[in-house]
Amino acid sequence: MRQLMSYVWWPLLFGGSVLSVYAGMRAGHDILAFNVTYLTLALAIALLERLMPHEEAWLANDGQMGPDLAHTLLNKGIAQVIVTVIVFMGIADWMAPTGDGIWPTAWPLAIQTAMGLVIVEFGLYWKHRLAHEWPWLWRFHAVHHSVTRLWFFNTGRFHLVDTVTGLMVGMPVLLLLGAPRDVLLMVSAITAVVGILTHCNIEMRCGPLDYIFNTPTLHRWHHSKVLAEGNKNYGENLMLFDLIFGSYFNAADRRPPADIGIQHEMPATFLGQLKAPFTNQPL
Ligand SMILES: [Zn+2]
Repeated sequence: MRQLMSYVWWPLLFGGSVLSVYAGMRAGHDILAFNVTYLTLALAIALLERLMPHEEAWLANDGQMGPDLAHTLLNKGIAQVIVTVIVFMGIADWMAPTGDGIWPTAWPLAIQTAMGLVIVEFGLYWKHRLAHEWPWLWRFHAVHHSVTRLWFFNTGRFHLVDTVTGLMVGMPVLLLLGAPRDVLLMVSAITAVVGILTHCNIEMRCGPLDYIFNTPTLHRWHHSKVLAEGNKNYGENLMLFDLIFGSYFNAADRRPPADIGIQHEMPATFLGQLKAPFTNQPL
């Protein structure tokens, strides 16, 4: 039964959340639906992590809940400010002034969303890959990788600079192409749902979905201390560009490591972590 359920969780939680946001959007309450869905999903994951954890050891307190929450709130706040500025200053209209850009607004929403995901993924993939392969960007991304356990609560633990550079390479491209609000919302919702699922500590198997989406299994490899495993699976939502550019990794004969983290020191406090990339810490 436990094994059967492990195949059910990802499609159920992903599909249910995406449908919930879509239904809310149709009913004219898109932002509310997104927030309610995300909160419900987080609570469901928190419960399932206790009931059927992937790693028992990751249930133990790592003393990082304070910094995890502080990074998450700071990032959400900044993202909110950027979105508000884009919406209220009319930047979206300014970027696609005629309203009839090259974006195929008449196509079915599912196709437009899939297109949006692939386009955004290209920027996100390369940004994430460079964040691992360029020491200067790694300093910032290391804050996210310094966790010693994966669970829903540290999904949003990113250095502010890491978050802002990520925001710059994704959505603006869709805005420039004239993608409508519904597509932006669906792409954002899917990114948020995939993101919290990739970090969750629930025993899940995703079968062939591992070749399409960034799943918890693939992301656990990405958090490995072993560089040959960790510098792989850079996709945010989709594995398409990992498959194309040769960075896909999923060992079939063993589980991803429980002992995760980075090879250098990371301060334990929120402010220390914000300052760390600017100091001469060993890389
Ligand atoms: Zn990473």
